[in-house]
Amino acid sequence: VPLNLANLPKVGNLPNVRIPTYARAPAGAPTIVHISVGGFHRAHQAVYLDDLLQSNAGGERWRLVGVGLLPFDIPARDAMKAQDCLYTLIERDQKGDSARVIASISEYLYAPEQGTNVMEVMADASCRIVSMTITEGGYFIHEGTGDLNVEHPDIQHDLANPAAPRSSFGYILAALRKRKANGLQPFTVLSCDNMQSNGDVAKKMISAFAKLADPELALWLEKNNAAFPNCMVDRITPATTDVHRKLVAEKFGILDQWPVTCESFRQWVVEDHFPLGRPAWEKAGAQMTPDVLPYELMKIRLLNASHQALCYTGMLIGHRYAPEAMADANISKLLRRMMDEEVTPYLKPVPGVNLEDYKSTVIERFANPAVNDQLLRIGTEGSARIAKFVLPCVRDSLVAGGKVKFLSFTVASWIYYLGQTKDETGQLLGFIDPMLARVQAAAVAGKDDAKALLEFKEIFGADLAGNAKFAGQVDEILKEFYASGPSGALKKYVNSA
Ligand code: NAD
Repeated sequence: VPLNLANLPKVGNLPNVRIPTYARAPAGAPTIVHISVGGFHRAHQAVYLDDLLQSNAGGERWRLVGVGLLPFDIPARDAMKAQDCLYTLIERDQKGDSARVIASISEYLYAPEQGTNVMEVMADASCRIVSMTITEGGYFIHEGTGDLNVEHPDIQHDLANPAAPRSSFGYILAALRKRKANGLQPFTVLSCDNMQSNGDVAKKMISAFAKLADPELALWLEKNNAAFPNCMVDRITPATTDVHRKLVAEKFGILDQWPVTCESFRQWVVEDHFPLGRPAWEKAGAQMTPDVLPYELMKIRLLNASHQALCYTGMLIGHRYAPEAMADANISKLLRRMMDEEVTPYLKPVPGVNLEDYKSTVIERFANPAVNDQLLRIGTEGSARIAKFVLPCVRDSLVAGGKVKFLSFTVASWIYYLGQTKDETGQLLGFIDPMLARVQAAAVAGKDDAKALLEFKEIFGADLAGNAKFAGQVDEILKEFYASGPSGALKKYVNSA
């Protein structure tokens, strides 16, 4: 059955498919606008809201409006239009797959064609929250200085064209300007990207952009205490492929252009700071807390940094999926030793969490064959992810005089990967990174000399390139990759003291 509102009752008659039965809230109801509706948003925040609307806990009727900014989102736009913004969520675990239709996104706007509508919906009094999953690279952070990368072409474009922006920050600012003119309060900006202190980072970057674009607006944001709560998000969500479309059609009988699959695990820890209100997400299982930082540190440094250790070495050895790579004893040993010896010692205690159990769960989740996450997805945007997930662990360990061998191995695996076109078995490698042209050229030219990459200050900062212990180990391990190949280098280092 093709998925759309008219067919929803028919879809509900299919065996083993759950459908939503709530009526969507009308325009004017409290609204969240979400920028960059990808796989993750549809498996996470939109599902928390769907649960809440379905249980109607508290009788709340929130609307969720999705926004796409990039040509990447054109297939999403088409699917959302054809399907009245409905999609199938397949939750997968050892017990099997379960299917449900999610209806919490009421409307989808593709900004390059509907830019005015995007600004209007954000500027409307009903908009309480603008949330986003714009990827780690979407914050325009210059890692060298930690400040806004003012030179970025999107920032330059939006400074020159404030009424016709193209970046998320440009739209946010344009809408805030209208709210100010209309005597409204600023909406709350909720970053749901994997970044330590994601709300603080969003605040810093958006405020810096506002100061450049419109100093009065920047002042207004400050005076009105615009809120940028932090949150920790977690649910492994592979990129949707035809395999998933086929699964949804053949196993559940739904013709869905854009389903999403994910693990059954989910976690969302949110700093409770929403001056204009928020849905009662805690009724759908979110943890609302005054301090997210210990949860974020745990998640980013154990899960996301380990993902980086897994993906490049895994792909170089010839794997394409996380469970295959995790089945390689040397790879799982690399993850375990990095977590135990170089990351855990520098984590703060996390209320209610046993870190040993958490690490074991991370390993199990990566190895979950039902989810079958893609290594290329995990290794997307390595330049931002190495900087955001791995290097903070390096810095903490260095300050404490600790080891950085496996963290350096992870960095070296990324540099080596960038210098290759094929894996150890002769299959072509894939690469996705907005900085690819520059980092790849440097890795190819530099070969086994790590300096070529370590000198990228916007990734490694001014401190790490010149740190003899770290830079020396990355260089030594990179040379081993070139001398003995990925399997050889891995075997040597994970089995050394
Ligand atoms: P996806 O590829 O399905 O979607 C990415 C979305 O981000 C697309 O809409 C794309 O247009 C947009 N985007 C890319 N670059 C952008 C930019 N510079 N500015 C604005 N938008 C941009 O990816 P996804 O799985 O939905 O992941 C998105 C983000 O969600 C990740 O980067 C991460 O921070 C977070 N996240 C993902 C997972 C996961 O398992 N997939 C888990 C936790 C957190």
